[in-house]
Amino acid sequence: MQETLMNLRRELHRFPELSGNEKQTAGRIAKFLKPLKPDLILEKLGGHGVLAVFSSGQPGPEVLFRADTDALPISETTNVDYRSVQSGVSHKCGHDGHSAILAGLAAHISANRPQKGKYLLLFQPAEETGMGAKAVLSDPSFAGFNPDYCFALHNLPGYTRNSIIVRNGTFAAASMGMIIRLKGRTSHASEPDKGQSPAAAMARLMASLPKLSGNGPAFGYSDFALLTLIYGSLGTPAFGTSPGEAVLMATLRAYLDSDMKLLIDKALALVRKMAETAQLTFDISYAEEFPATTNHPDAVKFVTEAASKLGLPIVEAGLPFRWSEDFAHFAGRSKSTLFGIGAGKTHLPLHDPDYDFPDKIIGAGVSVWQTLYERFAF
Ligand SMILES: [Zn+2]
Ligand SMILES: [Zn+2]
Repeated sequence: MQETLMNLRRELHRFPELSGNEKQTAGRIAKFLKPLKPDLILEKLGGHGVLAVFSSGQPGPEVLFRADTDALPISETTNVDYRSVQSGVSHKCGHDGHSAILAGLAAHISANRPQKGKYLLLFQPAEETGMGAKAVLSDPSFAGFNPDYCFALHNLPGYTRNSIIVRNGTFAAASMGMIIRLKGRTSHASEPDKGQSPAAAMARLMASLPKLSGNGPAFGYSDFALLTLIYGSLGTPAFGTSPGEAVLMATLRAYLDSDMKLLIDKALALVRKMAETAQLTFDISYAEEFPATTNHPDAVKFVTEAASKLGLPIVEAGLPFRWSEDFAHFAGRSKSTLFGIGAGKTHLPLHDPDYDFPDKIIGAGVSVWQTLYERFAF
């Protein structure tokens, strides 16, 4: 089985697809699942999601296990024989590996059918853009499901291979993309006074917005909040024209949803003030919204018990992770936990162009899923 799963992982790796376009990936996963004869397979769930359901037909818990399936707009520099055939697209977050691990659970359940409860294996699209989980949950085909527990894992470079990283409460930060448009009026570059350039207001915002970041009550937050400028543009590259529009984009992060709200309010107030002072109008839109991923202590306990039963090292994360995960949407509905599986202390970081999911952790990942499954199913 290990080799089959490794081959599946490498096949998914070779043919990566961006968030929202995981059509072939979904097809490959469904092809793997069908011979395992789940009681139900739903395809095209929330886009290109695939859900395999194994039901005992008896009362018991409804448990969802989730893997993500999308790749990233990053050119692969890894020189492996299963390297990406799509130029500019590659699996640099290990979602190929997460999917292979969940496929391993499907094979196990197929051979060990549950005696109680219902088991949902979700291969979720569009995690990286924060769209997939929401789309699956609001898909009418998913309306009949109401999991008591939801579990998801993510490989984590920088941690001992096969260690299990857990945390009660916030596991991954909330994040949100903010797009700020400042609107003035263009004019001839010889007569800037006849227009309304947003240049000075943009510069002031670039200097002051990042200063809204802070940690704790001294900054008005309960915990950590961070604003990072990621993009800016002003006017057009035309020497004859004084600009009339500027765009700034920032990523906002916080460990708590309440701090996220506060950070957004502070940013809004600052934009309003700068725009008014400079007699500009503005509009603000948002993108890639991820709530904080909040782990439920019961679900965390089940993962910790499974890891200790398997003799895997358990690491309690001191602080939440600064990145975000759209599994947060499941965590808001059921007793849920996202946990980490160590990819190796010196393994390259996620989203690095040379990163490649370590096949050596597939076995431990499948074992944790199996142990959790068996805890509920028998
Ligand atoms: Zn990622
Ligand atoms: Zn990821």
